[in-house]
Amino acid sequence: MLKKLRTPLFLALLIPALLALTDFLTPIDHVFWNVRHKLNQHQANGSTVIVELESDSDHPDSDTVAAPRLARVLEQLRPQMPYRVYVDAPVKYGTDAAGDRLLAETIRSFGSGVSLVVRGQTVGSLGHTFTLRDFRMPPKALSDVAPIVVSVWNGNFIDYAVSSPYSVNIAGRDYPTFAASLAGKYSGLQDTFEPDFLVEPDTIPKVGERMLLSGSYTPGLLTGRTIVVTQSQNVPTIGYYGKGRIHPLAVDIAGASGLAKPISLSLGQLPLLIISWLLIRAGSRADSRKSKFTLHALAVFAPFVFAPALQLIGVTVDTGAALLSLMIYGVARAWQLRVRRVQHTSTSGLPNLLALSAQPLEVGRDVIVAVIGRYEEILATLPRDLHGECARQIARRLSVGSGIETIFNGEGGHFAWTEEARPLEMQLNHLEGLRALFSAPLQIGTYTFDTNIHFGLDRNEGLDAQTRVNSALASANDALSSGRSVELFEAERLAEASWELSLHARIDEGLRNGEIWLAYQSQWDMRLGHACGAEALIRWNHPTRGPIAPDAFILQAERAGRIDALTYWVVDEAITAALALNAAGQRFQMSINLSAQMVDKPSLVSNFAEIVRRRNIDARLLTIEITETSSVRNRPAAVQNLSQLRAMGFRLSIDDFGTGEASLAYLADLPSDELKLDRRFVSRLLTHDRERSIISATIGLAHALGQTVVAEGIEDDATYRALVELGCDVGQGYYLGRPQAFPEFCQGLLKMGQRRFGFV
Ligand code: C2E
Ligand code: CA
Ligand code: CA
Repeated sequence: MLKKLRTPLFLALLIPALLALTDFLTPIDHVFWNVRHKLNQHQANGSTVIVELESDSDHPDSDTVAAPRLARVLEQLRPQMPYRVYVDAPVKYGTDAAGDRLLAETIRSFGSGVSLVVRGQTVGSLGHTFTLRDFRMPPKALSDVAPIVVSVWNGNFIDYAVSSPYSVNIAGRDYPTFAASLAGKYSGLQDTFEPDFLVEPDTIPKVGERMLLSGSYTPGLLTGRTIVVTQSQNVPTIGYYGKGRIHPLAVDIAGASGLAKPISLSLGQLPLLIISWLLIRAGSRADSRKSKFTLHALAVFAPFVFAPALQLIGVTVDTGAALLSLMIYGVARAWQLRVRRVQHTSTSGLPNLLALSAQPLEVGRDVIVAVIGRYEEILATLPRDLHGECARQIARRLSVGSGIETIFNGEGGHFAWTEEARPLEMQLNHLEGLRALFSAPLQIGTYTFDTNIHFGLDRNEGLDAQTRVNSALASANDALSSGRSVELFEAERLAEASWELSLHARIDEGLRNGEIWLAYQSQWDMRLGHACGAEALIRWNHPTRGPIAPDAFILQAERAGRIDALTYWVVDEAITAALALNAAGQRFQMSINLSAQMVDKPSLVSNFAEIVRRRNIDARLLTIEITETSSVRNRPAAVQNLSQLRAMGFRLSIDDFGTGEASLAYLADLPSDELKLDRRFVSRLLTHDRERSIISATIGLAHALGQTVVAEGIEDDATYRALVELGCDVGQGYYLGRPQAFPEFCQGLLKMGQRRFGFV
């Protein structure tokens, strides 16, 4: 239930409905109505005409009008036979006895046709009862001859008129409000009505005092009309939707217009909220995208259509709650979709490992990650649109086998789930059982694949989900690379894992502070018997871990995504060394190792081209050694990259020839320049005939293809001589020189050179 209440749909109903009980939605309504009225206001109906008194030139600051002046205006009005007259200006009374008498007389002569308007300040929350202090009441002599109407508006948080009562009570007496009186609707009810802000105040007919006195206005304009004699000097303004702050008379006239409508009903926030929400709900449950879109569009338009339409017939509905509901639903849905996108694997649509890490892990559960062997290869064989199906099928198999509903799917053939921890023995048996399920081939579309599966198991209860998923993942990868079915993640390995995780930063630091450096191992021309090149080999002297073997940290750098940075650093360093060695006059070849992870990268060729240009080196001096061909993901891209590098002048060398399964295939695919015989063959050359034959045949094959042969791992003189006899071109090994830092390497070269000259 609680979960349901947190869905976007329910939030979109609950929050606005609760806020509708308070004033918090008023600002939204305010903006809505302001825009609405700005866009579309209509002309005043002309039944009320304003006669505007000019400002008193003798007393420009005065907000009152002298009695005789008002009497003169009224005298001018009477022959026009207005329907009735409101005097909306405080009268300056009591200083000119004759003038006062004249005014009272003139008003009386109108019969009951003249009313006096008394204005009060806008009030926040409407009360109907006031004291005399709240108003400036006219003198008794005038109120005896003319009824009093009161203009007082209920204002909102920024003093915009919102509603008015029909009548107010001042010091125990009831007075009609001005707007109610204008509309001729006097209701004793403790009720309120709302102004019709659709009236454009500028279209209310207006006659200036001077025009009135000189008679220069449209004849008949005043006849039969309601006249309001007003003055605009020093009158506090009031907010009018669509117009901003203006003279309050406009609101009174709009109030009368509101009352003139057949119905005057204010329904509040709920009707529109319910309509919009029902449309949102219908939309969210619709099956087709089209009806979903239509219903949601209707939900958006509902407030903008219903509110103005109902307003025309005098029914006010507030829009704040509906608009807020739309906003909440929109934002919450967008958030939900975002989270879903981030937490799902796009190809399979299954939740990904991030989603698993984000879940709270209950006590007593194991985290298991399964990794599928040769997954990349399977995907490379399958057409793209079957990739998702492949992942789903594997997930289904795991789900059925383990009785777990949700299987999470990471990139690269990883599948994860949590299940109740059983005794270790049972758990391992269970995983073996699952493994057996994968002895049956996968059937995806018309494709059939044999595969195997490896598991990583994390039982470190109490650690956070993220760590445990990472641990299980690392174990699964270890199981995959070691060929074991299950690898258990032990707590001690956490330190190792965190080391792996922080490798990114450590490699950068190592490059900066010289912990990472290059060793150079010489390569010898076996026919001429002198050094002709070197292989650059990376070294890491870690301050706390000591020397780390390149085999170990190259793999980790590949995993941590730092292999590119590392390789380009090696290339740059090796070029510096090559330039120094070649400056001595003799041609000296420099070999570097290229990780299999990089050979198919799109940026490879351009990066090498950039380095060659920047360092201004002849690319032919550099030999790129490639190995581990079986783990290259995109073979065609790799072949293309390497061909382009070769076209640029780089020499290509196939490292560890004879160990990888695909060496021969590689020879066929790749236009290479050199083969490096693996040291496993070389070390057995003297003792095993089989290896001797392999080496001999390989040298023949290589020469037939126009390749140079380099023998690695030459550790003694006898092996060296045997290789010379077999026709090997170049040798490398401890016998000829160990990998050394550049200064020692140079010294060693000199010494070996002397020795050579000594016995040749
Ligand atoms: P590799 O390319 O086959 O390099 C030759 C390895 O054999 C080096 O090990 C070298 O020290 C060793 N070696 C040389 N002569 C002899 C010998 O006479 N006897 C024996 N037993 N070993 C010999 P190292 O330096 O430990 O490198 C191991 C592997 O690390 C290299 O194998 C290479 O695959 C990789 N590696 C080294 N530097 C880099 C690099 O800069 N980038 C990449 N991607 N991989 C590198
Ligand atoms: Ca190598
Ligand atoms: Ca090698």
